[in-house]
Amino acid sequence: MPEPDTATPTCPPRVPAPHTTAHPTSSPRATRRPHRHAITAVAATLALVAGATGCTSGGPTSDDRDKVQVLVSFYPLQFLAERIAPAGATVATLTPPGAEPHDLELSPAQVADIGRANLVIYLSGFQPSVDEAIAARAPAHVVDAATLTHLESLAADGASTESGGVPDPHFWLDPLRMEPVADAIASQLTAIVPDDAAGIAERRDAVVGDLAALGTRFTDGLATCQLTTIVVTHAAFGYLARRYGLTQLSVGGIDPDSEPSPARIREVAASLEGTGVTTVFFESQASPDIARTLADQAGLTAEVLDPLEASAPGDYLTRMDTDLATLRGALECT
Ligand SMILES: [Zn+2]
Repeated sequence: MPEPDTATPTCPPRVPAPHTTAHPTSSPRATRRPHRHAITAVAATLALVAGATGCTSGGPTSDDRDKVQVLVSFYPLQFLAERIAPAGATVATLTPPGAEPHDLELSPAQVADIGRANLVIYLSGFQPSVDEAIAARAPAHVVDAATLTHLESLAADGASTESGGVPDPHFWLDPLRMEPVADAIASQLTAIVPDDAAGIAERRDAVVGDLAALGTRFTDGLATCQLTTIVVTHAAFGYLARRYGLTQLSVGGIDPDSEPSPARIREVAASLEGTGVTTVFFESQASPDIARTLADQAGLTAEVLDPLEASAPGDYLTRMDTDLATLRGALECT
């Protein structure tokens, strides 16, 4: 086995860390939301600079293909990386299997890993500890998914809003929003392992084809439904709802740990009277208490709908298909 350092690109940190450039004196945690677009625009530019000026002289060559280390910050990014990375590459995740990625805390060893990885794939604004580590460690190659898709603002009830609200990170629940991230991962991997460019392009095409086919199954599967409102405890399904003509009504916030008040639960229960809604969705990683309370108050069934944030049995595609089947049943689709 090679020493860890031999697998590390030797590119000097040519550019300052993206977030410290944007906000040299302020904490990313405190400022990430109001300044998201400014930060991500800078990050995007720097990511392009890093990719374009590249590590081709000092970084891994084709002989190093088996040593490529990709680090992702949570599951859907892991799926894309594993599908596109060269055979022999290592894809590791910062969010432990089964854990929920919101507000992940990193160990010192994980922060060091971020500095050593050939490619880090993450979503700025979603996991502040990852943002801070990337700013401090300036990995050689970075893909920030937040720069590749427009993140919508969500109001407290899970509806899209033009003003106020907070950016909704859950882009991966719209399969079509995964495509530009696949493209960026392929582009960065090609810069790292140019000898495998054809293979990377082929695998990128395959996964994008699978995402498009999944999107078609959702479009067809949700085309004719008796109901169109999805009631959820964690406001993770806004992009899915928007893409497929549904309306998300959330009891809780964007973070699954946010606890709605009893008054909020009563308010949602009252708003559902006469709507025909049958189901409140919760996720297996979170406590079912809120869903059960609402289900009892409004005469609903509580069912699991997977936000795909955590690693779990099955891959992105099979888990999304399970969600589709759950939605089709609950929304009485034909
Ligand atoms: Zn979430």
